[in-house]
Amino acid sequence: FPVVAIVGRPNVGKSALVNRILGRREAVVEDIPGVTRDRVTYPALWNDRRFSLVDTGGWEPDARGIDASVALQAEVAIELCDVVLFVVDSRVGATATDERVVQMLRRSNKPVFLVANKVDDSVLDPEVAALWSLGLGEPRAVSALHGRGVADLLDDVMKTLPEVSAVAQPKLAGPRRVALLGRPNVGKSSLLNKAAGEERVVVNEIAGTTRDPVDEQVEIAGRVWTFVDTAGIRRRVHLQKGADFYATLRTSAALEKAEVAVVLIDVTQEISDQDLRIIDLVLESGRALVLAFNKWDMLDDERRRYLEREIEQDLAHVDWAPRVNISARTGRHLEKLVPALDAALESWDTRVPTAKFNAFLAELVQEHPHPLRGGKQPRVLFGTQVQNRPPTFVLFTSGFLDPGYRRFIQRRLRETYGFEGTPIQINVRVRE
Ligand code: GDP
Repeated sequence: FPVVAIVGRPNVGKSALVNRILGRREAVVEDIPGVTRDRVTYPALWNDRRFSLVDTGGWEPDARGIDASVALQAEVAIELCDVVLFVVDSRVGATATDERVVQMLRRSNKPVFLVANKVDDSVLDPEVAALWSLGLGEPRAVSALHGRGVADLLDDVMKTLPEVSAVAQPKLAGPRRVALLGRPNVGKSSLLNKAAGEERVVVNEIAGTTRDPVDEQVEIAGRVWTFVDTAGIRRRVHLQKGADFYATLRTSAALEKAEVAVVLIDVTQEISDQDLRIIDLVLESGRALVLAFNKWDMLDDERRRYLEREIEQDLAHVDWAPRVNISARTGRHLEKLVPALDAALESWDTRVPTAKFNAFLAELVQEHPHPLRGGKQPRVLFGTQVQNRPPTFVLFTSGFLDPGYRRFIQRRLRETYGFEGTPIQINVRVRE
């Protein structure tokens, strides 16, 4: 669903507005400066349209004061939403903090509604009019507490809201979607046959399953999965010219539809550039990853020792991916794919609460500060996870971080939270 975010200083009445929009009657809890709470997303409905309402929460103002914390909050909200409701207190007027947020909002190019709250009656009309000066267009006078003006505001928000969100990730029902990847002859169709051939699942019996004929419902160890784009695996088209190009295209298309990739690697062959390219495509796609070493029945001791060295050398960059040793032909150990897929998907779905993440950052920075650079030390000021699938973090810093320090943060994140089977992304925003 499209996403509407509510942004504003503490005490301007964000929570009251959230409650009003949601039609809730709970006691209004105002933001208390000094209380860290997370973004909260609520399902909302107006004029038969569904959308997500993000209450951006109040974040602990640090030494740099409340200004900075509101600015950060706004920055994250902007990234996460399709439309912003920027709330100001009409009784107070626009403050310097508000002005700073306005600059950010204007730069973002996202549609913004300027909401002048606490206008319980028309006595405040001149104060509302004064807010034109913020340059965000018409100030919308509302009283979140009494409901005045909120319906009109929402009517207009609905007109601006896109049908399809540019930021929200679609949640599809049904079994989780797996892309089975690997170069020709690694055993993809053997694996499918072994799993699907023996325990065929009737597609229509499963609620919410896709009807896409190129996908297939496959049961492994009592669990149903949607293997995407299996038609390409079953129908063995051998293209001569440009085969690589088409293979890449097919892999990318499958990844697009999948949540997790199982990359099959043939243990009887050396790990090849083609294997590594496929893994790179998975990493680029941001999907979860499981490595399955196939034809294990053919492995002798000598090859096995060599394989271990190869894995250490060539697959070090994906040492976080669960590995399973299987034999697609005999069906041996196929069931081990299930806990591996579960682990990878769970990591991929993980959300680290903002407070916890910042506690983690604070400890990390204290223990191991960024090395001095030209007499200056870039500081990590604040961080938040802006997305999952895969986990994506934004760090706000006072200067660019050395690549080595970024890697250090990555490593610590994995040590602390596991993230087995998922790529993680860290974006750095340098604050001026
Ligand atoms: P695909 O191109 O990835 O779909 O590979 P196939 O499933 O067609 O397998 C290619 C060849 O490897 C076939 O001859 C399979 O019988 C064989 N094969 C697949 N999996 C195994 C396995 O686990 N052990 C052994 N020994 N052979 C396998």
